[in-house]
Amino acid sequence: MKYPASKLPDVGTTIFTVMSQMATEHQAINLAQGFPDFNGPQVLLDAVDKHVSNGKNQYAPMTGIIELREQIAAKVETIYQRKVCPHNEVTITSGATEAIYAALAAVIHKGDEVLVLDPAFDCYDPAIVLNGGTPVHVQLAPPEFKIDWQVIAAAITARTKLIILNSPHNPTGSILTEDDIEQLTKLVAGTDILLIGDDVYEHIIFDGAKHLSFVKYDELYQRSFVISSFGKTYHVTGWKIGYCIAPAHLTHELRKVHQFLNFCSSSPLQYALVDVMQQQPQHYLELPAFYQRKRDVFNQLMSESNFSGAPAAGSYFQVLDYSKISDLDDMAFCEYLTKEVGVAAIPISVFCQNPPPMKLVRFCFAKSDATLEQACKKLVSLPRQIR
Ligand code: GLN
Repeated sequence: MKYPASKLPDVGTTIFTVMSQMATEHQAINLAQGFPDFNGPQVLLDAVDKHVSNGKNQYAPMTGIIELREQIAAKVETIYQRKVCPHNEVTITSGATEAIYAALAAVIHKGDEVLVLDPAFDCYDPAIVLNGGTPVHVQLAPPEFKIDWQVIAAAITARTKLIILNSPHNPTGSILTEDDIEQLTKLVAGTDILLIGDDVYEHIIFDGAKHLSFVKYDELYQRSFVISSFGKTYHVTGWKIGYCIAPAHLTHELRKVHQFLNFCSSSPLQYALVDVMQQQPQHYLELPAFYQRKRDVFNQLMSESNFSGAPAAGSYFQVLDYSKISDLDDMAFCEYLTKEVGVAAIPISVFCQNPPPMKLVRFCFAKSDATLEQACKKLVSLPRQIR
C-alpha cells in the first residue's frame, strides 16, 4: 500500500528525546532535557500513596477535580490579584503541552497566522501546522533575546490570530518586563488577536523580579490562555499535570478539544497536588531562592570554564556561549559534549526557523549540587579551541 504523505514532513524527533537517549547511551550526565534529579515534597509523595490506596483511581472530572481548580483560583487571586472562576476559567490538562495543543486547536482556523518568537519551544509549531495555521517566526537577537516590538508589529497582518509568549523563557532564561507588557498591550488593543502565555516557569524567577502573568492585566487576560505546569513547580515533571486559565468563552472552546484529546488527567495525582497546596502554601514562594541558589552554584563552578554568558533571569536553564572552545555548530558541539565529555546539553539553534549565527547551548541546573559539581568539573576541563 501507499502510505499517506506526512502531515509534518519537516518534523523529526524532539531534541529532548534525542539528547536524553544520547545521554543514556553514553552514560553522560544529563543537563539536557529539563527535569530535576531530586524528588518533590514528601507531603506530595505520601499523598499519592494515600489517594491510590483510598481508591481515588477512577476518571477525574473532564475539567479536573474542583478542589484543585479552587486551589489554583485561590493562588491566582493571591499572587496576580484576579478572581478567576474555578468552574468556568480553570481546566486541568495533562501537562502544559496538552494545554498548548488544545488552545491552538480550539481557535486556529485554516489560514490563520500565529506569531512565534524564536528561539521557541518546540511543541508550538507542529500544533499550529496540524490545525491548519501558519506559524510566523520572529527571530530574537542573541545573546539577550530581547523582544523588539517594532519587529513584532511589522510581522502582524490581517490574518494574525494569536501570539505565543513564554516567560520565564525556555530555552533562553529571559523574562518579560513591564515595558514588554506595555508594548504588547498597545499592540493588541482594538484587535481580536489572542494570546497564549506559556507560564510554566512562573515560580522560577530570580534577583527579586516578579513574573508578569497576562492574568494580571484586563486588556491581556480577556484574550489569553494562560498555561502553567505543576511538574516544574513541584519537581514532578513526569506526572504531566498542567492547567490552563482563560476567560469563560475561551475555556469553553478549549474544553471542547481537551475532552476528546485527553478527556481527563490522572485522579490520584490531582488529589495529591491539592494536599500539597493546602499543607505547604509557601512552597512556590520558596522556589525563586531555591533555584537562584542552584543557578549561582552552577555559574560559580562554570566561572572557571571557557564558557561564558549572563546569568538566567528565570527558568531552570542557563544558556552559555562556547565560541572560545569550539567552532563546531551547536548540534555537533552538544553531540561532542555528550559522547566525549560526558555532559549532555541542548543546542539553541533547533528552536529557530532561521538560526542566526551563534554558539550557544542550554544547561539544566535543576540538579543536586553533587550532580552540578560532577558535570562542571568535566566542562571546566575543556580547553580553548579544540575541534
Ligand atoms: N520542558 C523540557 C525542557 O525544555 C522538556 C519537555 C519535553 O521533553 N517534552 O527540557
